Amino acid sequence: MTTTQPRLVVTPSANIHSDAERAARMSKLSFGRTFTDHMVVIPYRDGAWQQGEIKAYGPLSLDPSCSSLHYGQAIFEGFKAFGQPDGGVKTFRPQSNAERFNRSAKRLAMPALPPELFMQAADALITLERNWVPQNVGESLYMRPLMIATDPFLGVRPALEYLFVMFGSPAGAYFPKGVKPVTVWISEDFVRAAPGGTGEAKCAGNYAASLVAQAQAEQKGCDQVVWLDAVQREYVEEMGGMNLFFVYQQDGKTTLVTPELTGTLLPGITRDSLLQLGRDLGYGTVERKLSVKEWRDDIAAGRMTEVFACGTAAVITPVGFVKANGFELTINNGENGPVTMALREALLAIQHGTAPDAHGWMHAV
Ligand code: PMP
Repeated sequence: MTTTQPRLVVTPSANIHSDAERAARMSKLSFGRTFTDHMVVIPYRDGAWQQGEIKAYGPLSLDPSCSSLHYGQAIFEGFKAFGQPDGGVKTFRPQSNAERFNRSAKRLAMPALPPELFMQAADALITLERNWVPQNVGESLYMRPLMIATDPFLGVRPALEYLFVMFGSPAGAYFPKGVKPVTVWISEDFVRAAPGGTGEAKCAGNYAASLVAQAQAEQKGCDQVVWLDAVQREYVEEMGGMNLFFVYQQDGKTTLVTPELTGTLLPGITRDSLLQLGRDLGYGTVERKLSVKEWRDDIAAGRMTEVFACGTAAVITPVGFVKANGFELTINNGENGPVTMALREALLAIQHGTAPDAHGWMHAV
């Protein structure tokens, strides 16, 4: 089979950070503020992906009429590259991100990007930016691929031209002072995603629509929003940027329960990995609907012993406190739970190359 995959031409930046500047930036990393020297851009037009380029990281030039600015044809992904003990670099499940990217593209009537091209772009950029991959545990080079519609046309229809962009951002430990449980707010005033909507796509609009609810959560003294289903307003779906797990202890058996993928929540790659790791650690795993009432009752009865959130950015975050209109819950005395921490350690060890990669999740760059 012939492939029409364009190669990536590299045009080195004329303005790269000096070793000293880079070291200074890498010594005080947070999340999402520092960007490496280069980015990948691949345009799509005439029904095909064109010649791609790796060039200096910098502003994009867009026509004000381009439809992503008006009608929101915009999707993105997030995955991480980790420094390995042997000095190499590996990414965690990038193929899964490439596949989810294409599912998001399909839902937003955007063209698919061949997963080989996604992988090629990631490997080439990370290789070029090798010095930006942090080495410490909990740190990584966070990769952000995205696609936007670029047609200069005001009609509401799928665009004919797009731009794929990928750049990297070195990310520090999410919890620089150690893992600490968060407080969550159950949102009853706002809805994230309705059946038939875009909830399972990683599209920009989902996040725009979530911001007022996040602001409300913060007003209530909480760190993050928990979304409920849009129809019955009863079942727990996910958080603003993470999936949720509930740990049950019954008759000496540990079971992980996570909301099933109903089409209205994001199928997290961390979520999928933890279901597998949970089984590896001998826990039961169940994907099902779980109501707020059950959450309250099962905490009260002592059956539900821990709750945690998971996603690429923070890996695993314990949930210690829950607030909603009319009630508050404390989980595991507001402390980190043993199952949560065991799963966290197991996943981080695979990502940082200190435990065997039994499921072939790590991709050598
Ligand atoms: N839900 C939402 C809404 C998210 O934005 C994310 C982050 N991508 C997740 C869940 C977790 O997904 P993943 O584990 O693939 O990062």
